[in-house]
Amino acid sequence: MIKELSIHTEQQAQLLEITAMVQTVVQQSGVKEGLAMLFVPHTTAAVTINENADPDVATDLVQGWHKLIPLQDNYLHMEGNSAAHIKSSANSTARAAGACRSKSFKADKVTNSDKAQHNRVSLQRLESYQTDRVAAALTALLEPLGGMANFVKPGQKVLLKPNLLAGKPPEKAVTTHPEIVRAVIEQVQTAGGIVSVGDSPGIGSPAQVARKAGIAEVIEETGAQFARFADSVKIAPSGRTFHELEVARDILEADVIINLPKLKTHQMMGLTCAVKNMFGAVVGLRKPRLHLQAGTDKGFFALMLLELCEQLRPSLNIVDGVIGMEGEGPGSGDPVPIGALLAGSHAQAVDTVATELVGMKPEQVWTQQQGLATGRPYCVLSELDLFGPALGQLQIGNFRPAKSTDVNFGLPGFLKKPLKQSLTARPVVERNLCKLCSDCVKHCPPEAMQIAGNRLQIDYERCIRCFCCQELCPHGALVTKQGLLLQLSSFLRGS
Ligand code: SF4
Ligand code: SF4
Repeated sequence: MIKELSIHTEQQAQLLEITAMVQTVVQQSGVKEGLAMLFVPHTTAAVTINENADPDVATDLVQGWHKLIPLQDNYLHMEGNSAAHIKSSANSTARAAGACRSKSFKADKVTNSDKAQHNRVSLQRLESYQTDRVAAALTALLEPLGGMANFVKPGQKVLLKPNLLAGKPPEKAVTTHPEIVRAVIEQVQTAGGIVSVGDSPGIGSPAQVARKAGIAEVIEETGAQFARFADSVKIAPSGRTFHELEVARDILEADVIINLPKLKTHQMMGLTCAVKNMFGAVVGLRKPRLHLQAGTDKGFFALMLLELCEQLRPSLNIVDGVIGMEGEGPGSGDPVPIGALLAGSHAQAVDTVATELVGMKPEQVWTQQQGLATGRPYCVLSELDLFGPALGQLQIGNFRPAKSTDVNFGLPGFLKKPLKQSLTARPVVERNLCKLCSDCVKHCPPEAMQIAGNRLQIDYERCIRCFCCQELCPHGALVTKQGLLLQLSSFLRGS
């Protein structure tokens, strides 16, 4: 069925009505399932529904489709004002048709023994990074999972993927602690594996970041190799978000991936742990591009994280929750003693336990929320088999989540847009801390930041609230400011 809708826009105010008009046409069509394709040719690229100029428009349209046709969850907003644009729209359409899937997550064939293994999450209390204590706790942690030998066979190439977000010393709790990395390297070597360690930091060269984080020294002392994450290779995830991603060749060439996340709050996703840590497989500046493509749609971004992690499938996930981070994580929060190590063969199962460990609810953690919404396994705590001390003994009270960054009162798109400042949180620069280094400007996905004179300026209309700038600022000069309605909502919810 083809529906044609003609809209002439002459003033910016009229743009806000487009979403509602398009949705009305879909509603009237009576279509409840199938592939929905929307072509919006237009003549004035600068001010019309160009998602590069206005990412909210694309997000609103896609969310509108989702409400109207809930059984189908693969919507693309396409547009074109020239032959080239229309050609690329047609190309996207062909891909969308090929990728058409049902709403529910379709798991790969998983055997009963895989399931039993993935259901297992092991915990151990560990309150210091003293070398021998870490080694002993790691042995006890892996014992219920069959020990390291269950994951690594002699001669295999094993890549350890710590969190190397930025070049900060270990006590800042931004990166996985080097003593955790050391203990894992030693166990892998004992099992006969050939170890390399690598990650793609948000900012700075991997080698420099590893040096500042104390991990380069451990690599040298143990005789492991450093994986530079220099080259990337295109992969075609089988999910619903991106049809093509570029990830580090070092990751793809490993026989075994061991994921070593740090347990931290995350301004955009709620929490960063095993699933989110695999985003480091995407090399350098390709990360902001993915943020830009996801726009303001956090659910879409979280789904992409899940699909990436499922594609790369780390064999083992070991979480550094000895000292974690609370508040404005993952780069500028405060270190907090949690006193635990977690491990499991399935990243989402490990995250389910980690979420509970710090007293957060699944709906506060976007990857958990999306896992549940798409029917993925290992998202429900009561269905997992836990080993080690009782979770209740390790749980911490008063863990401070990152500030809420948006609120959804169920408002229609045309009202959300003018209320954006009030409904969302935004990054605000602390002028006395800002060194005008431009690091944030270079990495802002929609190029919403600039330095003019001796001031950093943020264009909040363009800003997609990804908080990459805050994550990467080496001087902690960006803080989160909530809009008025968001503040009110947070107050009422007691968060
Ligand atoms: S906010 Fe931070 S990253 Fe941005 S220019 Fe200032 S110091 Fe640099
Ligand atoms: S200003 Fe910061 S939060 Fe806004 S889009 Fe740029 S990097 Fe993301």
